Amino acid sequence: EVAVLRIGHRPERDQRVTTHVGLAARALGARGMYLAARDPGVVKSIQDVTDRWGGEFFIEDEVKWRRCIEDWKADGGVVVHLTMYGLRMTDVIGEVREHAKVLIVVGAEKVPGEIYALADYNVSVTTQPHSEISSLALFLDHLSEGQELDREYPDAAIRIKPSQIGKKTIER
Ligand code: SAM
Repeated sequence: EVAVLRIGHRPERDQRVTTHVGLAARALGARGMYLAARDPGVVKSIQDVTDRWGGEFFIEDEVKWRRCIEDWKADGGVVVHLTMYGLRMTDVIGEVREHAKVLIVVGAEKVPGEIYALADYNVSVTTQPHSEISSLALFLDHLSEGQELDREYPDAAIRIKPSQIGKKTIER
């Protein structure tokens, strides 16, 4: 089981990025996202996508991040904090993959220092600055070794019929 914890979200400026963190998490195989802020707009847009496109992705806002991390660990899970300053993903991903429960923490502008100590792994994707969306996407892809890319969403109301030209969809 893989879930994402989004911290540092500022409703007045991070809505789009946080929504995309959630959509990337869903599309790339995570079970859900905890949001350490209150933002009904983000919750609704992710729920709307899940309702239409299928799957069981959960989105929970107003989560206390410290509590979320502690509960995850108490449940036997491992916590991975994505930060450009961390250990190289390529060096630790094999070890992380051995764990059944993985919580991936991504920040916004400034991450509280305490997170580094609470995390079991501080992991950098490339050791270059980029974004929470790209680092999460790459981490999830490597974690599942590409297995999530052709996943099916059997209960979907709408599906895409992949095609070279045009926009073909199948509605249930
Ligand atoms: N400079 C900020 C800090 O003090 O951590 C990070 C800002 S960055 C725009 C927002 C988030 O993107 C970070 O909290 C981290 O989760 C993620 N991120 C950015 N680059 C990353 C990288 N190379 N590897 C892993 N995560 C990264």
